[in-house]
Amino acid sequence: MEMKHGNLSINSDNIFPIIKKWMYSDHDIFVRELISNACDAITKLKKLDGAGEYTLPEGYKPRIDVIVDDKEKTLKFIDNGIGMTADEVEEYITQIAFSGATEFLEKYKDKTDQDQIIGHFGLGFYSAFMVADQVNIDTLSFQEGAKPVHWECDGSTEYDMGEGDRTQTGTEITLYLNEDCYEFSNVYRVREVLEKYCSFMPVEIYLSRHAEEPETEIIDEKDLREDDQVIERIHTDAKTEEKENDKGEKETVEVSPARDEVKIRKRPELVNDIHPLWAKHPNECTEEEYKEFYRKVFLDYKEPLFWIHLNMDYPFNLKGILYFPRINTEYDSIEGTIKLYNNQVFIADNIKEVIPEYLMLLKGVIDCPDLPLNVSRSALQNDGFVKKISDYISKKVADKLSGMCKTDRENYEKYWDDINPFIKFGCIKDAKFSEKMMDYVLYKNIDDKYLTLEDCVKENQKPEEKAEEEKPAEDAQEKKEESEKEKVTIYYVTDPVQQSQYINMFRSQKMDAVILRHNIDTAFITHVERVKENVKFQRIDADLTEDLKEDGADLEEEKKALESLFRKALNNEKLEVRVENLKDEKVSAMVTLSEESRRMEEMMKMYGMGGMDASAFGGQQTLVLNAKHPLVQYIYSHQDGEKVTMFCKQLYDLAMISHKPLSPEEMTAFIARSNEIMMELTK
Ligand code: ADP
Repeated sequence: MEMKHGNLSINSDNIFPIIKKWMYSDHDIFVRELISNACDAITKLKKLDGAGEYTLPEGYKPRIDVIVDDKEKTLKFIDNGIGMTADEVEEYITQIAFSGATEFLEKYKDKTDQDQIIGHFGLGFYSAFMVADQVNIDTLSFQEGAKPVHWECDGSTEYDMGEGDRTQTGTEITLYLNEDCYEFSNVYRVREVLEKYCSFMPVEIYLSRHAEEPETEIIDEKDLREDDQVIERIHTDAKTEEKENDKGEKETVEVSPARDEVKIRKRPELVNDIHPLWAKHPNECTEEEYKEFYRKVFLDYKEPLFWIHLNMDYPFNLKGILYFPRINTEYDSIEGTIKLYNNQVFIADNIKEVIPEYLMLLKGVIDCPDLPLNVSRSALQNDGFVKKISDYISKKVADKLSGMCKTDRENYEKYWDDINPFIKFGCIKDAKFSEKMMDYVLYKNIDDKYLTLEDCVKENQKPEEKAEEEKPAEDAQEKKEESEKEKVTIYYVTDPVQQSQYINMFRSQKMDAVILRHNIDTAFITHVERVKENVKFQRIDADLTEDLKEDGADLEEEKKALESLFRKALNNEKLEVRVENLKDEKVSAMVTLSEESRRMEEMMKMYGMGGMDASAFGGQQTLVLNAKHPLVQYIYSHQDGEKVTMFCKQLYDLAMISHKPLSPEEMTAFIARSNEIMMELTK
């Protein structure tokens, strides 16, 4: 074949600089592109063999070799795939690939970063020029009588093509790295990139380093393989020692046997697993395999709680494993990773167009070969098919969770504390998920029992409402509608230690409350109130419920007097005071803060407006005094007493403490005053 000098058919001289610049952000993707091409080439060859158009050589093992040379600053990608004839190189590389790259750039050069093509699929072979000044191709087609081809291009628009010297079917691509990209001649860096993109590619990939002084390893002779390069054979004689036996005779015993070893050139290192766990049928995977896969992929040594294996072929192809990670505390921010693959080729983490947002709190892998990846991200967002994938994943997760609640309640409860933030977030974000999951959201009560919303409603219904429900059918319907308008209040605790006084009051009245201590809970109960119109949530200290106080007695006078006393003592003219006969005689005073004000306060905190006092929004904080308590009675009957101010302050602080943490100044004053009070007792 004659040497051919040609001109790449493009209309712009500066396409390579554009490629380099445009892809600067993650220019390591050239590795994925070249390896994908190599995989495709091998797949094509195997297909031809399957179709009887070609016979694979005896003992054929598909493989890709990546060889770095840190001295020459080159990087090679070698495959034993289909190869190319000169005409094919001309057509696929010089014309098609290049025009593909041109078209691609034409289309996207004006787009902003946010709208990048997922993983830049489609740039293919020419992405090599992102890191290389010159690229050579040496290839031999599978076709009978094909001649090896050598092609080279120095990154300008010109190339040379002629006869090459490759003797084995397949293709070798050599990159002469650009000075800025010498990092890719470092074997560790290349391994890192291979692990990122190619860990699960379907053809074995071997990485090795080319050096003048080759690295070696010593192996047992019996482990020697045909393709090993032997450097030296090492024979070690058996070692013996003279020893005395039981009878006192001298004897020669062997302490280590003779060994035959071989020093070989260090074998190329296999970097990928061609059968990722997600591709197997769930029935064929063991628990240990799932855990091991999790450790390997997410480098998380805390065991996952459980997992969902997605496996479907119809109406689209989707496989994957989603793990529910263990969360340490309720304050841990939860950050998951969902890795997206396309036919075992890594695309990117957390692609929000494909994976429902709340699922990104999990850790997992999704492989979807049908994804249209040649389109921009914004196009993905509006793609009906992509939406279907996302919905399907969401549905599967809901099915698995609700199924577990129904058939494996014990484990479901065991995991609940860990998985609940995730489920609640899902409910808030995804109406369909919420619909499916609402009845399987659990509420832990103050006795550590797990209730469903239905259980909560039942136990919080007033006795007369319950009775109505049990009445026979006819007028029940009507009554029910009526009682639905009447909301059932579910009381909740956010901090069982701080709110223990209220919990005790509830307990003594045989009332229940649920514990909602995660910061997602405020948003979640607001969501529940929206979708379940018959319930409302109220924190245990939000208001004084009728069940906690005795009715009767007119305490108007006491209220007036005590309010003015406390306002004066605390120097707070806005303080709201209520005086009640509380059923629990041990409680002297407590503070309530209306549910609305507190949720408002929490929302402000969330939006970084903390520090503002909720009382600024209508002063919904109320000091409730128990008229039956001796201390309150003492204050009332000693209104002019010299110690009354101290009593008021102390009582107020005590009530506050079980409501929210005191500020440092308040705490200091409280401690000093407590000491003073004890000093009084010593007198
Ligand atoms: P794409 O892979 O998207 O088609 P590329 O620019 O990566 O675009 O490659 C263009 C074409 O060149 C491929 O479709 C294939 O026919 C051919 N090709 C590239 N790399 C190889 C290879 N290693 N072995 C055989 N053919 C290849």
